[in-house]
Amino acid sequence: MKRFVQFIAGAICPECKSKDTIALNPSDDEIYCVKCDFIEKRPELKDLKKESEIKVINIQDFKKNRDKNQ
Ligand SMILES: [Zn+2]
Repeated sequence: MKRFVQFIAGAICPECKSKDTIALNPSDDEIYCVKCDFIEKRPELKDLKKESEIKVINIQDFKKNRDKNQ
């Protein structure tokens, strides 16, 4: 089964400071970082969406691309 993750494009993780690693959980009430343990409930998505867009990315492709860039 493929896993799809909604990434918030351009969002920077407040924990590890990585860009494009913040994803939304399926019910949209939590955001989390795919790189570290950061997780936040009921984020202020209004602020995030102001300058960002939601991208749906296959997590397998994301990891493939990330590994390629390292
Ligand atoms: Zn992080």
